[in-house]
Amino acid sequence: MSDCLFCKIAEGKIPAKLVHQDQDTIAFEDINPQAPLHVLVIPRHHVAATMNDLTPVQDQVMGKLYRVAATIAKERGFAESGWRAVMNANRDAGQTVFHVHLHVLGGRQMAWPPG
Ligand code: 5GP
Ligand code: ZN
Repeated sequence: MSDCLFCKIAEGKIPAKLVHQDQDTIAFEDINPQAPLHVLVIPRHHVAATMNDLTPVQDQVMGKLYRVAATIAKERGFAESGWRAVMNANRDAGQTVFHVHLHVLGGRQMAWPPG
């Protein structure tokens, strides 16, 4: 998707502070962090704009996002204290970038249920 911000980050056309990359996923620091740890883990390719668009073809990469998230949370020292993975879908959830992505948040107490 040529006009997608996260595709441009994945392709290196827009800079980001990368924290992980492999053939399926990339992870980078959120530009407007909401917690001491706030990393976005995304499929490298534009597999879906929102969770509403997922099909079984994406099962593997969507699962991998969670494993990458856990690896990052562990590396940052939040495995025991706790961390949260969040994926927003559409307006009421506050989604602003329409390339599916997992927020990885940690380093502060997080309210439950989320706001
Ligand atoms: P959403 O609201 O769609 O679930 O999350 C989009 C996230 O992308 C937001 O947390 C926002 O701060 C982040 N973001 C928006 N533009 C950029 C950017 O250019 N670079 C980075 N690293 N993060 C961005
Ligand atoms: Zn995209």
